[in-house]
Amino acid sequence: MSKKNNTFGILRKDLHLNNFFRPSNQSTNFSQPVPSDFIEKESLPSVSSSNKFIQQCPNTDSIGGGRPIQTSSSIHLTGSSLNMHLTPGGGGHARRESFLYKTDPPEALACRPVSRASSVTSTEHPHPVPLHGDDLIVTPFAQLLASLRNVRTNLLSITNLPPNKLGSEDKYRSIKKAAPLHSIQLPDNVMACALETLEELDWCLEQLETIQTHRSVSEMASSKFRKMLNKELSHFAESSKSGTQISKFLINTYMDNNEEESVSPNQPEQPKEISAEDASSVASTSQSSPHLSLFGKAKTAAMSKISGVRKLKNLHSGQVPEYGVDCAKEIVVYMQMLDKWGPNIFKIHELSKGHSLTSTTYTIMKQRGLLSTFNINPHQLITYLIHLEHHYKENAYHNQIHAADVTQSIHVFLNSPSLKGVFSDLEILAGIFAAAVHDVDHPGFTNQYLINSNNELAIMYNDESVLEQHHLAVAFKLLQDSSCDFLTCLNKKQRQSFRKTVIDMVLATDMSKHMSLLADLKTMVEAKKVAGNSIVRPEKYNERVILLQSMIHLADLSNPTKPIELYRCWNQRILEEYWRQGDKEKDLGLEVSPMCDRGTVTIEKSQIGFIDYIVHPLFETWAELVQPDAQDILDQLEENRQWYLSRIPPDETEEDNMSEESNTERGTSHGSLKVLEEGEESNNITDNTGNDGEA
Ligand SMILES: [Zn+2]
Repeated sequence: MSKKNNTFGILRKDLHLNNFFRPSNQSTNFSQPVPSDFIEKESLPSVSSSNKFIQQCPNTDSIGGGRPIQTSSSIHLTGSSLNMHLTPGGGGHARRESFLYKTDPPEALACRPVSRASSVTSTEHPHPVPLHGDDLIVTPFAQLLASLRNVRTNLLSITNLPPNKLGSEDKYRSIKKAAPLHSIQLPDNVMACALETLEELDWCLEQLETIQTHRSVSEMASSKFRKMLNKELSHFAESSKSGTQISKFLINTYMDNNEEESVSPNQPEQPKEISAEDASSVASTSQSSPHLSLFGKAKTAAMSKISGVRKLKNLHSGQVPEYGVDCAKEIVVYMQMLDKWGPNIFKIHELSKGHSLTSTTYTIMKQRGLLSTFNINPHQLITYLIHLEHHYKENAYHNQIHAADVTQSIHVFLNSPSLKGVFSDLEILAGIFAAAVHDVDHPGFTNQYLINSNNELAIMYNDESVLEQHHLAVAFKLLQDSSCDFLTCLNKKQRQSFRKTVIDMVLATDMSKHMSLLADLKTMVEAKKVAGNSIVRPEKYNERVILLQSMIHLADLSNPTKPIELYRCWNQRILEEYWRQGDKEKDLGLEVSPMCDRGTVTIEKSQIGFIDYIVHPLFETWAELVQPDAQDILDQLEENRQWYLSRIPPDETEEDNMSEESNTERGTSHGSLKVLEEGEESNNITDNTGNDGEA
């Protein structure tokens, strides 16, 4: 049984922390400080008929329970509706927390399911689970349950807790007959502590026993976060018409439909509202496949090769310029800022004469010494990068400047002092490479659109992370040409590791994986916190890759954390790309996807929603992990949020029935917003984009 000591060690720490923060006069009031199951089993607030989709996450388990455990590094000032977080690394100033830290009102505490744990703890067996050696129970999960039950029985025997102190008769029915070990009357404080410990144990057992055992820890967390986000968004959707559209967009984009639990066979199936995607899917099959006219006749022969890959020419030779390609000399100033957060990547694109991706990627790799470490031939690297660049389409957003931006951003994350020594050189090389290639040959349409229109790529990749798989295929196909293969000096094992890391990372840029990635990261951060570790030292690849995946995802979503001029420019670009998709959808008579209709998008409010529900929770979690390295990034995010918030027209209140709390929290009323009308302030950047944008 010694192997289980670690588990108990962690649990005890957890208990200790809880005791430490629980005022002694409340120590026997168990229902007070343990807000359990605060997300499930309660009806979601009524949502207007147009957004029933928000409820499509059925509440089939009770793992939504939450019990904020406060550690000594955080103090929640719960006087207002905001949870302020005092971050020690951040100079002690209070920071707004994301919805992940939100707890529900006390009435939610009342409905705690009865523990099934105690029913097995029968006195007929002094040891509730017959342990004839460990071989009887071999799976770790069952062993964990068995051990916890033993601990529970032992605790009752040691403390000799009388049944009438054990609360509800039903709940503790089966332990009434626990055989006493002694008849000594223990002091009151010992008994209080024992009761509290029992309560903690029962909570753990309840949670563990309601886990469907095929589900992983990661799925548990992402399921919980999805439910929390669903609930938040249902409030947001109620606020106004634009809130509904924004909620719909966030759910469609950042939640994986496949991950949602299916409705229990015993429950009548809820009539599911047809989403925009469903509708367009239906439309595309019923209207004699209008999509074919968009992408040309389906090229079935293309299955034998990777579409989009063009023949290579223009091999790089001769003198290698400072930044890999010929650049205007003014670029020096901007290149010196590559280690900083938010250099003007549009200016770099202009001054590198349309080679932002090659110049930043080459410079970053060279500065990191990766060329010498891996004997990389600069000509091959530059040839590869230039061809990679040419395989980025000139979309408004998903173009090589975005790739350069993500590459530079991940470079900054990798430089985080807290992560020093965590990654191998090969992982760093893979990380930078993954960022550079992560959107190559992006067509400027979403995965959902490609699926709905039966696009060749969706057929090829069976609707699963269609774009991301295509980016990877193109990236590695280009690498196969000997003039481009800058990795010739890697041995076979290194190449395999490199490829695996790149694949894992680029697949993590599928936005529908957002919730599970956030859940993995948060689990890692909190496990570290509970174990009392302050340093990040993941030893296994499986753990390190979560960090690498988080980094590329953070970099991919980093626009709102950049200086406001850059942020606004990216914003205009992504909307332009969405709107082009919306135009196509209109042309084809398909339902327009959320955020894709030029006429109805409300920029300020959609950015507030994007920040509050997606970007802030992610960056907040990251900042906690690398504390205090990302504090400035969080500050910039907050500043940008304020920028957009202050531009929500106060007089446009439009049937605004936003909840009291949300109004207080956001300090303004919400309403319909004007479509982008402020190009005048951001022209200085949009004009500097060189060959970007569709000709
Ligand atoms: Zn991207």
